[in-house]
Amino acid sequence: MNQRTEDIDVLVSEVGPRDGLQNAKGIMPTEDKLKWIETEAAAGVLEIEVGSFVPPKLIPGMADTGDVVKGALKVEGITVLALVPNLRGAENAFKAGAHKVTIPISVSEPHSISNVRKNHKEMIEEVRKICELRDSYPEGKRPHVETGLATAFGCSIQGVVDEFEVMRMAEAAVEAGVDEVGLADTVGYANPNQVKRVFKSTRAAIGNKLGSAHFHNTMGLGLANVLAALEVDVRTFDASLGGLGGCPFAPGASGNIVTEDLVFLLESQGLRTGIDIEKLMAVREIVTAALPDDQIYGHVLLAGLPKGFKAAAA
Ligand SMILES: [Zn+2]
Repeated sequence: MNQRTEDIDVLVSEVGPRDGLQNAKGIMPTEDKLKWIETEAAAGVLEIEVGSFVPPKLIPGMADTGDVVKGALKVEGITVLALVPNLRGAENAFKAGAHKVTIPISVSEPHSISNVRKNHKEMIEEVRKICELRDSYPEGKRPHVETGLATAFGCSIQGVVDEFEVMRMAEAAVEAGVDEVGLADTVGYANPNQVKRVFKSTRAAIGNKLGSAHFHNTMGLGLANVLAALEVDVRTFDASLGGLGGCPFAPGASGNIVTEDLVFLLESQGLRTGIDIEKLMAVREIVTAALPDDQIYGHVLLAGLPKGFKAAAA
């Protein structure tokens, strides 16, 4: 992991090149993805989810993920993260040299079956195999394996998701060998009280293996949920530049929480992210030029920074 994480209070993990592009209308050329990753790293972002190792037939925009990982590894100072839905994806990610992989497991079993055609038991077995593959690498060269518990706060197929089921799946993932478990509000149904409750109970179950929060802004509660998670000591947040991608379950809704707005929320409260927000805002030009038909979102984008704004480290 990155040494510079010691100098920050909150880690902002950019997921736009994966979550954003996976749901975008346009397909971004590899060189633009790499330009995006480079300039965002230069703005101070320390972790970037650069793509997903899924069959190109399913998501054509992710067909170049191997090349994107290799290109991103040349960018200094970032942790290169890739999503892998199964063992084959993990093999490809490890071969490409990704520092870290994230395996989504849907807490909602109907969502899991519709998404990856695997029930919980089969999914945990897949995670176990990926952890065994990780352990076949010599110590010090092992990629970091994270599980993201998808639909942890609600599901567009099942509706309400049982909070005990989140704990149970987190424990099962840790038992299967993962280094870290994040909680994802995949469809954007979470509310702040629920966020506090579910993060607390999951931490009670798996302790310091509890990792990031992944929020979508479908109902407009994304940043309120970040505040709630901060209150219960969550210190890693996923976000997408310009909230790119929208939500496949709610046409018209924005996608992930917006990286620029998240950084503003954190820095304006005195929490150091290590990110230069003005440099970050400039990255948007690369994204909009490469994807002219996709909408981007954000309040800082519309309003600009307030007069007299001071970043936390200043
Ligand atoms: Zn997401």
